[in-house]
Formats: sequence, C-alpha cells, structure tokens
Amino acid sequence: MKIALISDIHGNLEALLAVLAQIDVMNIGGIYCLGDIVGYGANPNECIEVIRSRNIPSVAGNHDKAVAGEISIDHFSDVARRGVEWTRSRIITENREFLSSLPYQRQVEQALLVHSSPDAPETFRYLFDQEDTWESFNVLKSSVCFVGHTHRPAIFCEDGDTQILDPRKRYIINVGSVGQPRDGNWRSCFAVFDSEQFSVNFIRVEYDAEAARQKILNTGLPKKLADRLLAGI
Ligand code: ZN
Repeated sequence: MKIALISDIHGNLEALLAVLAQIDVMNIGGIYCLGDIVGYGANPNECIEVIRSRNIPSVAGNHDKAVAGEISIDHFSDVARRGVEWTRSRIITENREFLSSLPYQRQVEQALLVHSSPDAPETFRYLFDQEDTWESFNVLKSSVCFVGHTHRPAIFCEDGDTQILDPRKRYIINVGSVGQPRDGNWRSCFAVFDSEQFSVNFIRVEYDAEAARQKILNTGLPKKLADRLLAGI
C-alpha cells in the first residue's frame, strides 16, 4: 500500500490544497499528517477544517499544542511566539479542542508517525543530522518512523547508509514541510511511502505562495514570516 505523509502545514491553505490535489491524482491508499497544522500562516481554522473534513489522521506538533495552550511558548523564537499568539486569538473553540485531542504518536502498519523524534515525542526534540538520531534509534521498534518538525526532507538510517532503503534496516524519514519549507526550495514537500516496495519518494508541489504571503502581510504578523515562503527558508 502507498501512503502520503504530510507535515508542517502551518496555516498555509494554498499549500495544503495544492498538495492534497496532487495526492488525489496519485494512486494512494491513505493520507497522514505529522503535525503543526497551525502557527505562522494566515488560515489556521481553514487548514484544520480541511484535515478534519477529509478525516486525515494527525499527530500533534509543538505549534498545535502551543495554540491549544498545553505547552509553554517561552522557548519559542520571537516570530514563532507571535504566530502562536495571533493563532490563539483567531482559533475557534471546536478547532482548538481538535488540536488538544491530537495524540503524540500513531502507528500505521510498520510505520511510526511522530512530529519530532520517536524517543520522546512530547519534548519536540529536533533531528537535524545523524548524530541527533542515535537516541531515537535506541528506542525505535518500527522499521520506519516518519517525522516533520525541521521542515527539511531527510532520510536517516541506523547505520548511516541512505542511498537505497533496505528492509532489513531501520529508518527515520523527515517528510519536509507543506506550508513553510526550509530547505531552500519554496515548493511544498510531502512524502509517499510504498510499504510493499519499502521505498519513499519526496514530491514537490508548486502553489500560490504569493497569495499565502499576502495573507500573512494582511494579518500584521512579521514580514519575515511572509517573505520566507518565497525563499523556502
Ligand atoms: Zn513546524
């Protein structure tokens, strides 16, 4: 079976709809979301409503829990904090409760889904490089774990070799970001996992980033949050 993994939508409705339209024309059995549906972008309610209406199972991201009021934003960057505060002021009760209900992890066949790292999903630790993943591989029981959080697509293998996925080894795969890519490519990113072939593909999708940018400018949020969409940083 093929499944699509999407993550870090961050209230970017234009990006989310473009990604879902792409997934809809592919032969894919299910869509799963790895969290951070909200924060930074101008359409938090609309993005949650798309995820809810399409019954896309999701796990909780740090921004989702922050907007739900369940984690502190003291250690968030200034722009992240402002994004959370603005989103809190706009989110309707029903959607805030939805964010609050999201679990920290889900298991889908042989794959574990978490937002940040499998060793302590509720601490939202970042896995930027191989060295960051050792603690995760120490506890990982699934053959593959999908994560988001850094907004950068990546494949980490327990032995460092990531050229071709080997079903005898374990992997942590970052699926990139739908709504705020940070790998220098402004196009939305998601991953397709084929559980029979044990293969993963990263797909990039063009969307109306200028429209999403303009909406952020209209909210009064920092200009940096708007401009970064065009640069993919
Ligand atoms: Zn994020």
